[in-house]
Amino acid sequence: MLAAMSASPLTPRSPGDACARSSGDACPGALRLHRADDGALARIRIPGGVLTPRQARELGNAAERFGDGELHLTSRGNVQLRGLAPDCGADLAGLLEGAGLLPSQRHERVRNVVASPLSGLDGAGITDVGPWLAELDRLLCASDRATELSGRFLFALDDGRGDVDALGADLTLIGHDAGAALRVGSTDPVFRLPCAEGPRALLVAAGSFLDAAGETGAWRVEDLPGDAGTALADEVVRRLRQAGVTTSPAHRPRPLEARTPVPGPVRGGGREAALSVGVPLGRLDLAQWQLLSSAGEMRLTPWRGVVVTGVALHAAEALTSALAEAGLITGSGSAWAGVGACVGRPGCAKSLADVRAQAGAAVGPRGRLPVYWSGCERRCGHPHGEWIDVVATPDGHRISHVRGDRAGGPVTVRDDPAALAAAVAAARGTGS
Ligand code: SF4
Repeated sequence: MLAAMSASPLTPRSPGDACARSSGDACPGALRLHRADDGALARIRIPGGVLTPRQARELGNAAERFGDGELHLTSRGNVQLRGLAPDCGADLAGLLEGAGLLPSQRHERVRNVVASPLSGLDGAGITDVGPWLAELDRLLCASDRATELSGRFLFALDDGRGDVDALGADLTLIGHDAGAALRVGSTDPVFRLPCAEGPRALLVAAGSFLDAAGETGAWRVEDLPGDAGTALADEVVRRLRQAGVTTSPAHRPRPLEARTPVPGPVRGGGREAALSVGVPLGRLDLAQWQLLSSAGEMRLTPWRGVVVTGVALHAAEALTSALAEAGLITGSGSAWAGVGACVGRPGCAKSLADVRAQAGAAVGPRGRLPVYWSGCERRCGHPHGEWIDVVATPDGHRISHVRGDRAGGPVTVRDDPAALAAAVAAARGTGS
């Protein structure tokens, strides 16, 4: 079976390329730990953010045994463990492999896949992305060529509702009419194709990207020089036709805003319940994690939340109360909704401030726009679309209103927490 799977649509370019690209890509992984100020850091890729209860339990064990006991959710629905001992790599890898979280060591950093977290639950999408997710992961892990992708290259599987399509992935497969649509980078039009061909088309497109990237050093589609992104889309269509996949262009602009899951019960009928839960600053302690993982299957969202599925109907209300009591967001109106921050001090040496503490201190009435606090100009994990950017600078905290690629109206506040909180609240506006 494995031999058959390795005949993937990706074809090799040259033997040295994988090494050359991977040597410059310092993206952390489960096997490549990153040294941070609070110890080593591991980033564990979780395609679609989907964790079985057992996998979630084992991840909690890993955080407790090797790390600081916390699980940090990322903007791609992955998990970071922090505060790891520098020599824990082999034991951590063994634990993850035993839990099925490391199906291929060679591919662990390229399994970057976000998927609509409410797909198949609330009836709002066109396609259930579950089968796409399983097939894409299988094809990725069976492909030698896929190991050449950088740890930053992102696949998105959108069930048609436009949530993860808004996240700026390199390749996006979208539920569309009675089939699927493929977006290459931010291109519009997208290309219609049969639903069942979607995952294979993503692999063809990833191979085309690697060829286009060549020696340019591009890690992502948006890094390609000039109008190479448009040329790439044309080349993908040509290769798909060559592979016998029928395509036709369709107009579908990339959504400016993601429609994120609203905290609370997910309405969809059926004999089981699902709950959407917000996680303040994306950080879960062990007790919170265990509460969530014991309730059902977890889907970690790219907005640092969790959708728990398979909850017995009779247990849903008690679970909601327990989660709220544990400090998680289980309904609309929470002051924490839309508040995000990078790790900041003391975990990151680049940070000029303890932005998580500052974000917490500034939490007030619920704001209309999301806000993201960064300890430096890199803005790791910032949101997309329209948001309020708060960056620690040597001159104080700079607050800007970001819309797409543009930022405007910067205000800088220095050494005055009350003034800072007031300025952030004013920038976010009121209402939902
Ligand atoms: S944004 Fe800057 S301070 Fe924050 S985690 Fe990234 S590098 Fe560190």
